[in-house]
Amino acid sequence: MIKIRDLNKTYFGATPLHVLKGICMDVDEGEFIAIMGASGSGKSTLLNILGILDSYDSGEYWLGGVLIRNLSETKAAVLRNRKIGFVFQSFNLIAFKNAMENVALPLYYKGVGRKKRNMLAMEYLDKMGLKSHADHLPNELSGGQKQRVAIARALITQPQMILADEPTGALDSVTSGEMIRLLREINAANGITMLLVTHEQAVAEATDRIIHIRDGVIGGD
Ligand code: ADP
Ligand code: MG
Repeated sequence: MIKIRDLNKTYFGATPLHVLKGICMDVDEGEFIAIMGASGSGKSTLLNILGILDSYDSGEYWLGGVLIRNLSETKAAVLRNRKIGFVFQSFNLIAFKNAMENVALPLYYKGVGRKKRNMLAMEYLDKMGLKSHADHLPNELSGGQKQRVAIARALITQPQMILADEPTGALDSVTSGEMIRLLREINAANGITMLLVTHEQAVAEATDRIIHIRDGVIGGD
C-alpha cells in the first residue's frame, strides 16, 4: 500500500538541512510497523510526508497506487481524510470540546450531520471503553484516556492507515503497554495498517517489524 523510492527532503532554512537522504521502503496492507531512530533523525519528517502533511523534493511516494507529488491542498486533504488517521504524542485534542465532540470532529469536515456524527462518536468511544466519559473535557481525562479519545478520533473515518508519532511518549510504561495492545487489537480486527514512531524498545518490540532510521537513511529493517 506504500511504496517509497529514493525519497529526499531538505529544509531550506538559513542553512539548508538535508533530512531524508534517499529513503526506500515498502509497506503492505495490514502491517504493524515501528519506526525507530535517534532524535533528529527524520522520523517525524517521514511520517508527515507519509501523511501528506508535508512535501518532498525528489523521489517517489506511492500510496495505494496513487503517486503523491505536487498535489493541491484540496486534493491532499481529500486523500488524507479518506485514507489516513493521525495520533500524536501530545494528543492534539481541542481543549474546549468534550470527548464526544473531539471524536466526532473529522466527520464534521466530511459533511456528516450532527446527529449521525455524535452517534458514531459514541460508538467509537464505547469501543475505547470511554462511553461514560463522553462529556468530559480533555483536562478532565488522564493521559491514557486522552490518547484513547485521539485513537477513536483517528478511527472514526475508517482510515486504511494510522500514523502515530510517539503515541506513548507522554504516557507511563503501564499505560503505554495498554495503548500498544489496543493498537494491536485494532490492527488485527480491522486490518488497518499501523506505522508508529517510537524510541521505546518495548513499544517497538510489540510490533511486527522495526524500521530504523539513522541520519536520514534506512539503517535496518
Ligand atoms: P525526529 O522526529 O526523528 O526527531 P524530525 O524529522 O522532527 O526528527 O527532524 C529532523 C531534523 O530536521 C532535525 O534536525 C530538526 O531540527 C529538523 N527540522 C524538523 N522540522 C523542521 C522544519 N520545519 N524546518 C527546519 N528544520 C526542521
Ligand atoms: Mg519526531
